[in-house]
Amino acid sequence: MRLATIKELLASKNLLQEVTIKGWVRTFRSNRFIALNDGSTLGTIQCVVDFENFDEELLKKVNTGAALKITGTLVESQGRGQSVEIQVSALEVLGIADPEEYPIQPKKHSLEFLREKAHLRIRTNTFAAIMRVRSTLSFAIHNYFRENGFNYFHAPIITGSDAEGAGEMFRVTTLDEKNPPLTEDGDVNYKEDFFGKETNLTVSGQLEAEAYAMALGKVYTFGPTFRAENSNTSRHLAEFWMIEPEMAFFDLDANMDLAEDFIKNVISYTLTHCQEDLEFLEKRLIDEEKSKPQAQRSDMPLIEKLKFVADNNFKRVSYTEAIDILKNCKPNKKKQFTYPIEEWGTDLQSEHERYLVEKHFKCPVILFDYPAKIKAFYMRLNEDGKTVRAMDILFPGIGEIVGGSQREERLDVLKEKIKELGIDEKELWWYLDLRKFGTAEHSGFGLGFERLVLFATGMGNIRDVIPFPRTPQNAEF
Ligand code: ATP
Ligand code: MN
Repeated sequence: MRLATIKELLASKNLLQEVTIKGWVRTFRSNRFIALNDGSTLGTIQCVVDFENFDEELLKKVNTGAALKITGTLVESQGRGQSVEIQVSALEVLGIADPEEYPIQPKKHSLEFLREKAHLRIRTNTFAAIMRVRSTLSFAIHNYFRENGFNYFHAPIITGSDAEGAGEMFRVTTLDEKNPPLTEDGDVNYKEDFFGKETNLTVSGQLEAEAYAMALGKVYTFGPTFRAENSNTSRHLAEFWMIEPEMAFFDLDANMDLAEDFIKNVISYTLTHCQEDLEFLEKRLIDEEKSKPQAQRSDMPLIEKLKFVADNNFKRVSYTEAIDILKNCKPNKKKQFTYPIEEWGTDLQSEHERYLVEKHFKCPVILFDYPAKIKAFYMRLNEDGKTVRAMDILFPGIGEIVGGSQREERLDVLKEKIKELGIDEKELWWYLDLRKFGTAEHSGFGLGFERLVLFATGMGNIRDVIPFPRTPQNAEF
């Protein structure tokens, strides 16, 4: 007999069939009602045992967390809360879970407690819902790009270019840490290292993606990236997944159009395909916020917020306009910002980004044309000579979710910039080649996948939306 999933059975109209299922016990009430879950859906199926007909010792092993194989008849449920249930004829305990030791008991656990049990937290409704949403979002992302003529490109994880400048990197080496080979000057001699040079884990696949866009037209990466930033925030991980589309013949406007359409599309897809999980996560968030003062609660329930983003245009504002708004806003005048906005040219902190999104515009915002000084070397210089064709997308509750730009495609301008920053041209020889041979206007962006999952699930800490988070001082599991 084929093993049915609980999701299938809960939707089944085919009553009185004999079924076999396997799953884990969520609860066992009154020595009669087993709520079984197998991960296929949020719900559990109620399995009714006539305890008179079963061995007492066997039933003692039916504890929360135990794995069971159950055979029985699918019948209309007598009780409330479910349409069908299983009248159990045979029950086998596949794996016990000692209630004295098993930490995931049917009661409320804090997210902090569950982080310490990352290998078991997925057995809770909350984490199972988050991870199903995460999986659906991944699929939606691949689907979107596929339908829009993109090729999936695998950027290397180990990189030899140290000019990207997106953050601190993790070194990759096979040298003997206690006794590394030294140069005459007493520095570590990386010529003797595995790759014959210094190498690191990638912080971004963009530079390599540009090479591929200049042949395949439209490409995207979707893979892990690594940043050794020692910022213990609820928005930063040391290992996170990034989606980086890169498109030949796209200017900044086309880039913004694509980014907006892309985000709306994957959110819509998730709304359609994860309804039950999103409803659960919405209730969870409302519960969590009950203990917070009104001012700190979300102004929209989760699903309404997702629909709002999917259905409304993002507001597009230049950096210069944003600075004007911020300079003159109440919190700035009342000196409520930790970093007061005084002049054009300062980098925006997340307190400013969140003011713009949450208080001023009350919708997602795309900021563009940033001062060249605060952005990366590869961004295209505007006619004014002081701003670049950069764009960041800011989301309510999250802050920056996307960072992107039109790339500098003019060899002479790019070389000038590299010189100004004191970067060795030789380091970027292959990147400059892309401007020598068949150069063309092109653009791209990077979206932090976990920030998108944070937004879609209404969770507050990035450690709770990736299976096994890597953060400073933490690489357990
Ligand atoms: P932030 O200012 O928030 O640190 P960033 O400017 O360093 O972001 P980019 O280099 O533009 O970010 O990276 C592109 C996207 O990757 C960001 O918009 C964000 O969504 C995501 N991202 C960046 N750093 C991290 C991180 N440490 N953990 C998770 N996501 C990140
Ligand atoms: Mn950063």
